[in-house]
Amino acid sequence: MPTTQPYSLLIRNAAQVLTLAGPPADKPLAGAAMAEWRIINLGYVACHSSTIAAVGAMHELDEALIGPETRIIDATGRVVMPGLVECHTHLVFGGNRADEFQRKLQGESYLDILASGGGILSTVRKTRTASDAELLAQALQHLDGFRRYGVTTLEAKTGYGLDKETELRLLRVARQASRQQPVRIVNTFLGAHVPGPEYKGRPADYLDYLVAEVLPEVRGAAEFVDVFCEEGAFGVEDSRCYLQHARDLGFKLKIHAEQLHDLGGCLMAAELGAISVDHCDYLTPEGAAQVAAAGQGRTVAVLLPLVPMFLRQDKYAPGRQFIDAGLSVAISTDFNPGSCPSKNLWLALQVACLKMGLTPREALTAVTINAAWAIDRQQDCGTLEPGKRADVLLLRVPDYRELPYWLGENPVAQVVIGGKVA
Ligand SMILES: [Zn+2]
Repeated sequence: MPTTQPYSLLIRNAAQVLTLAGPPADKPLAGAAMAEWRIINLGYVACHSSTIAAVGAMHELDEALIGPETRIIDATGRVVMPGLVECHTHLVFGGNRADEFQRKLQGESYLDILASGGGILSTVRKTRTASDAELLAQALQHLDGFRRYGVTTLEAKTGYGLDKETELRLLRVARQASRQQPVRIVNTFLGAHVPGPEYKGRPADYLDYLVAEVLPEVRGAAEFVDVFCEEGAFGVEDSRCYLQHARDLGFKLKIHAEQLHDLGGCLMAAELGAISVDHCDYLTPEGAAQVAAAGQGRTVAVLLPLVPMFLRQDKYAPGRQFIDAGLSVAISTDFNPGSCPSKNLWLALQVACLKMGLTPREALTAVTINAAWAIDRQQDCGTLEPGKRADVLLLRVPDYRELPYWLGENPVAQVVIGGKVA
């Protein structure tokens, strides 16, 4: 792009531009680096079509590149930052589980409800019987909600089909949803969510079925393979064997681990080169240091602080100690019908500060550039830097320190995705 061409979009006079960019990094941000990105006071962001062209202070702005066709947005009194990256959702499912919420409030545990045929399996029944059109309409409604919160890139897992036909259908629906609205979607296959109802009590047989019958057909439709390593789902050795098969087929790896017990799933997955290990509420600080070493600093711990809150559990991942131990941390909602029906990634960021000990700067890293690393999109998004996709938020606050403070509020005033105001 010649530098003499006028900007297509200019966001100017921002009270603060949070670049989320620091020194060049070839790994997700860890330790002190999670808080060391640059803030520009009174700044601008300029775009050429779908790409960021320049970011800087207002006194550095080249007025010669403002033409009659340049769309100008005034950001006076606003924080401007990269679009949020939501790196862990179960986007496509049928129905909801408001009925089970009542049972939880009356004292039944997540694993009790799962064991009695509820939980994931009740959503599987509703998902299998829903039409493609119903699933698509519901997914689009959820994506609309995410976009209002400023999410511009989102990972979407399958896992409510648990048979070949429905799991492939969920990937198709996610792909259709991706084409019908502007939020970018990254697909993950979570057929190994729990054993399908036809394989009750036979988790290893179910994984064999996925490897033999389903994974070969998922290639090209999903980039990541994920497994729920937990009591009542899949053990560490079965999960290891499954992820190895998936890696051999060319998939990148993720795991749900250490959510309710410390089984060692995170370390196992990091040893296999997993891009992320998710939940980690029961991962110890010593375990976190081992995960960081085994993953050579490339494995991101995706923390999901709304899940223990919604399940009324007291145990939150010790994010502060993970960061101090050198483990990279991202934050996500885990949006799903059972353990987190919220799409409010700001609330997740706030609870991560309150319950996991992250600082506001670290928490912002965790919902942008580190979340991008957790889905292998760090080249495209997560920071405001020339060459990246123009995903930009304008927020109704003048100072980033207000972001974790206005609890439960959505600060988003405007969302730009790929250079277009959404
Ligand atoms: Zn999940």
